[in-house]
Amino acid sequence: MLDGRRQIFSADKQQIFAGEKLRHSSNRMSKSARLMEDFLELAKDNTEKDLETCGVLGAFLEKGTFYVTTLIIPKQESTSNSCQAVNEEEIFAIQNDRSLFPVGWIHTHPSQSCFMSSIDLHTQYSYQVMVPEAFAIVVAPTDNSRSYGIFRVSDPSGMSVLKECQEKGSQFHSHKEPVSGSPIYEHCTHVYKNSNLRFEIFDLR
Ligand SMILES: [Zn+2]
Ligand SMILES: [Zn+2]
Repeated sequence: MLDGRRQIFSADKQQIFAGEKLRHSSNRMSKSARLMEDFLELAKDNTEKDLETCGVLGAFLEKGTFYVTTLIIPKQESTSNSCQAVNEEEIFAIQNDRSLFPVGWIHTHPSQSCFMSSIDLHTQYSYQVMVPEAFAIVVAPTDNSRSYGIFRVSDPSGMSVLKECQEKGSQFHSHKEPVSGSPIYEHCTHVYKNSNLRFEIFDLR
């Protein structure tokens, strides 16, 4: 099933502006317009203490579109440059109950700029292995040039670098450039804002 969906995504990337015609044959991603504002508000206490906050995004799939309807803020341990969910089974329970796909995650960089760290890339890799369309939102309230970014690991270039990386994701480390010359991660082009989408938040902290 995942292989089939991976092929669909490749087509999606190239034909993203083809519009309605493709709707039923490609997995687009639609998210609530409120998502980032709501998340930043929930992260506020941590942000003021220079601590990261992370959340997991759940979506249902209908006629080729993922609708992001759920933000789960798990119990977590964080520092100024990392955030680790604990009791992950609580996240899976909510997703399973509602038949949601784990389509991505969102986290703050309270004092750092808007980019994907090596640890972020490994986290994102594990999402894209499950759901090829998965994305990462980085919210960086102190970055004057870009307050948020929606990113994904380039596929196949970045995905193969991360798959082969021996450092995994517990310590910051550097990655070699993909042999293809393309960047290891890139901006997402398949995520759309939808102001009519109902949106649910589970704050498990
Ligand atoms: Zn990060
Ligand atoms: Zn690595």
